[in-house]
Amino acid sequence: MAQLSDDCFAFGGALLSVEAAAALIAARVPPLGGTETVPLAQARGRVLAADLFAPHPLPPFFNSAVDGYAFRHADLRAGEETRLRLAGRLAAGQQAAAALAPGTACRILTGAPMPPGADTVMMQEDARLEGGALLLPAGLRPGANCRPAGEDVAQGALALPAGRLLDPPAIGLAAALGLPALAVTARPRIGVFSTGDELATPGTPLGPAQTFDSNRFSLLALLAGLPVEPVDLGILPDRAEATRAALREAAGAHDMLLTSGGVSAGEEDHVRAAIEAAGSLVFWRLALKPGRPAAMGVIGGTPVLGLPGNPVAAFVTFLHLARPLALRLCGAAPVPLPRFLAEAAFPYRKKAGRREYVRVTLCPGAPGGLPVAAKYAREGAGLLSSLTQSDAFAELPEESLGVAPGDRLVVLPFAGLF
Ligand code: AMP
Ligand code: MG
Repeated sequence: MAQLSDDCFAFGGALLSVEAAAALIAARVPPLGGTETVPLAQARGRVLAADLFAPHPLPPFFNSAVDGYAFRHADLRAGEETRLRLAGRLAAGQQAAAALAPGTACRILTGAPMPPGADTVMMQEDARLEGGALLLPAGLRPGANCRPAGEDVAQGALALPAGRLLDPPAIGLAAALGLPALAVTARPRIGVFSTGDELATPGTPLGPAQTFDSNRFSLLALLAGLPVEPVDLGILPDRAEATRAALREAAGAHDMLLTSGGVSAGEEDHVRAAIEAAGSLVFWRLALKPGRPAAMGVIGGTPVLGLPGNPVAAFVTFLHLARPLALRLCGAAPVPLPRFLAEAAFPYRKKAGRREYVRVTLCPGAPGGLPVAAKYAREGAGLLSSLTQSDAFAELPEESLGVAPGDRLVVLPFAGLF
């Protein structure tokens, strides 16, 4: 269980900036602790628990980078072709029985260890064979086409730091260093509730005045991309006592809770009051659109996030609150959201003082220019199809008053977010 004290945060101001919320999470939420060892085949997406220092150099020995001929560079004649006697052959996995004699060359294949004495390889495409002799053109630099031991990672060097998310390149590197399994951090159990009397679970009949619960499935799917154990906790009714009791009980059995809906200021919004009654509120309301009515609290040491009910707002606040919080609990180093520049193809007006995310589609720009971002036609925070039909969020910073066509924009591609 995460041990957050119930009063470790100061609740300052009416609207918290996105940055301040992220800083609070980073500064105050301790990693869960706990590790397990998993085989490489199951390590993808997990978080490395301890620094990994290279037990061997990588590559382990001096070897040829190409198919060709190994020789001593000192044997090359300056400015003219050199003739060397061809002696011996080394394929990958074979070791030279003896050092290379001066004035000779050895046939060598990619990955084979360099014979002692040899320091350079001529690619086979550049050499000519004439009987038993090898003709080498002039001009090759010493050490060409070879890979020194440790050129990739030196023995004893930090190969992967603790907190590193184990993506396919990291798993490949661990394997290259000879490790069959890795110590990874424990996966926090994250419980997900929806709230609302209007919600029906997909697969059950839709009553009058009901709508299907989508947030629970979006949020569970978003969590599935993180090193956590998502737990589906169903739908809470719009009742204060039931909400409070459910949050209190779930807080005792999970490392983090996520709710969606019921966190605005209407009389059927019970999440904020339930957090305050069962534990304490850390913040409520962000300077963010969509996503303003988001809350964070702590119940019995367990962090609780109340995300807004509107589906697009739930996505945006997940990315800014739930994702960094979950990664903190896992002991992961902060993983910034991917951002790149694009050129706006649309006008847009906004108020200063809050950050906004606008749904856009991207297409390649003029040669040498930035990709061009076109705004999705409609703006509602409830329009789920706006996410399936867009490619990215354009991020309009707090101080911005809007966008004009041709302006540079920061965009966050969905491909790197979801
Ligand atoms: P609320 O903040 O609870 O008033 O919710 C705002 C809007 O989001 C309402 O239209 C809700 O019906 C909708 N909503 C809330 N929760 C969900 C959910 N889990 N799935 C789909 N829509 C939701
Ligand atoms: Mg509601």
